[in-house]
Amino acid sequence: MTETSTQSGGRPSLPMAGIPQPTRAEVLNLPRVHFSSHPVMAHKMTALRDKNTQPPEFYRLVKEIGALLAYEATQSLALEPAPIETPMAPMVGQRLAGGIGVTPILRAGLGLAEAFREVIPDIQVWHLGLRRDEHTLQAMEYYNQLPHKVDLQVAYAIDPMLATGGSAIDAINILKLRNIPRLSYVCIIAAPYGLLKLSQTHPDIDIYVAALDESLNDVGYIVPGLGDAGDRQFGTF
Ligand code: URA
Repeated sequence: MTETSTQSGGRPSLPMAGIPQPTRAEVLNLPRVHFSSHPVMAHKMTALRDKNTQPPEFYRLVKEIGALLAYEATQSLALEPAPIETPMAPMVGQRLAGGIGVTPILRAGLGLAEAFREVIPDIQVWHLGLRRDEHTLQAMEYYNQLPHKVDLQVAYAIDPMLATGGSAIDAINILKLRNIPRLSYVCIIAAPYGLLKLSQTHPDIDIYVAALDESLNDVGYIVPGLGDAGDRQFGTF
């Protein structure tokens, strides 16, 4: 077990060192957690993780994976009848019943938000800035563009990496203040530690995950993971 070292301010610089973590097997059957099993997803995930994949390609892959996740996460949305006329005859079609909100956690969630917009162009996008303190891993809110009056059937908090779960839990706490009937969380890669924390703290939400990884390293990065999802999307190394 690694010792937790401290910086001059006495704060731990290896916040996950020595902290017990659940295994993959322990989180595989959590209620309301949905893992993608699509072969195209697995194929794209390998390209995304590859350290040789450069930011333009990485961002494109985030959007493609995000679109697949958007399909999976919207599969049980409510519909309402919609009478229309085709060029041939009147018919009663179906429309999504009620609005859909997406809350990307800045900045890494921006690529996934684009993907959701491509699948469902009339979603509302509510930006939420949560920065994690590198020493304590606590999430701190620095930007909030959530409207006060909302009328949605569902809102999705989206962030590529579910690591310690701190930002995810905070984002859902913030969305819960808006009285939205249904909330979900969508991520590309989850660590067992953060997934268990989120699922236990918010057992009433659905969680959609493209891939479940092994663990967090001492500084809270997912292993094998893909590195820093924000830096890799936006080229800020
Ligand atoms: N955020 C990232 O971008 N990557 C990780 O591995 C964990 C959190």
